[in-house]
Amino acid sequence: MKNIAVIGAGTMGNGIAHTFAQFNYNVQLIDISQASLDRGMATISKNLDRMVIKEKITEEDKARTLGNITTYTSIKEGVQYASLVVEAATENLELKLNIFRELDEVCPDDTILATNTSSISITEIAAVTNRPDMVIGMHFMNPVPIMKLVEIIRGYNTSDEVMNFTVELSKEIRKIPVEVNDYPGFVANRILMPMINESIETLYNGVAGVKEIDTVMKLGMAHPMGPLQLADFIGLDVCLSILNVMYDGFKNPKYAPCPLLVNMVMAGKLGVKSGEGFYDYSESRKAENVSKQFS
Ligand code: NAD
Repeated sequence: MKNIAVIGAGTMGNGIAHTFAQFNYNVQLIDISQASLDRGMATISKNLDRMVIKEKITEEDKARTLGNITTYTSIKEGVQYASLVVEAATENLELKLNIFRELDEVCPDDTILATNTSSISITEIAAVTNRPDMVIGMHFMNPVPIMKLVEIIRGYNTSDEVMNFTVELSKEIRKIPVEVNDYPGFVANRILMPMINESIETLYNGVAGVKEIDTVMKLGMAHPMGPLQLADFIGLDVCLSILNVMYDGFKNPKYAPCPLLVNMVMAGKLGVKSGEGFYDYSESRKAENVSKQFS
């Protein structure tokens, strides 16, 4: 196995491409948008620079890692030699089903198809292909080059061979795989998202402000980041779609997204990626914060 195709060059896709390339895989990074590919490659380069500064890797390692990645705007061209495809496109059921229909058609017969979905059923995705035994969930955590966990999700028809292969591959890139079964939200988001949603509900009910809620959870529960800040980093649109998948999947009101979250997503306040969520990440505010640090 040498060629790994990654679909989507956004927050997760560029991190997944970076990680495999660092461990000497040839990575084909594919996105429908050339601008996303350019942004993704710039992010990988910036993150590698940080690792060079911290003396975790050398300049040569950086050049080798970047040299291992080729970008494509066509799935068909990008996946023709892939032994494994890791799909990390936008969290949307129809979009993912269409991508997997296409992957099944254009990939070699022995290509394993993995998805980095946060919550969508692996079994449902696998069902649109003619190789449901070769479809698996490979749920990396953000930021991928740093976070150790990969949740490995076994769909209803995933074979033992594909499961074992994915577990071993995760270890090879120095991640820690944890095997779970295919139910809405899997383990990570089934536990994390109700906490994030409850924090938003706490804000919505006027119990406390953004900073106060995050401070309680950071200092009181030893969380490295407050839940509202974490939601901003994940993306409020991603949080909303995960909650909706769990709400629909379990038919249980405890997963109903808070109306404030729904409103913020409709208003385009998506967190870090849009410049504003529960906190302000706009350029002017960033500049203000930097000048405060130096004053
Ligand atoms: P993102 O919005 O940052 O990036 C999505 C990328 O997919 C964009 O660059 C977009 O152009 C591309 N894309 C859309 N349609 C495509 C298509 N048909 N073909 C190729 N590329 C296409 O999203 P993200 O946060 O990186 O999330 C990607 C996946 O990873 C989602 O399934 C999400 O649930 C999951 N995930 C996200 C996080 C997180 O913290 N953000 C964590 C774990 C898993």
